[in-house]
Amino acid sequence: MHVMVPTARLVDWWQDRHDPHQQIRCICTTGGFCASIESLAKRLGVSHSTIFRRIRTGEITTDEADEWAILVGVHPSRIWNDWDRLRTCSDGPGQNQWSDWRCPPDDYEESPSV
Ligand SMILES: [Zn+2]
Repeated sequence: MHVMVPTARLVDWWQDRHDPHQQIRCICTTGGFCASIESLAKRLGVSHSTIFRRIRTGEITTDEADEWAILVGVHPSRIWNDWDRLRTCSDGPGQNQWSDWRCPPDDYEESPSV
């Protein structure tokens, strides 16, 4: 079983910390990273189709989130600020069903649906 976290958090985090993609002479054309999803995919070492599939699905597993956070250089709790609770939930007794998953704190904000 897996606890899932919203992919949008990672995308928002990434876009907040990088300059918007430029039509001309973007940093991403010279080996750097801009706020584009393509740059994020490159940083994560995954294909465009993988990253877009995860965004479309809307969720990634905590295992994948952990790996991806490390690849962008931060602890996952910096991106998913309820991370420790999620981990506790996923490891806790009797919390092995999605329907039982009720650990996010009150200030947990759902990303607005597009
Ligand atoms: Zn760019």
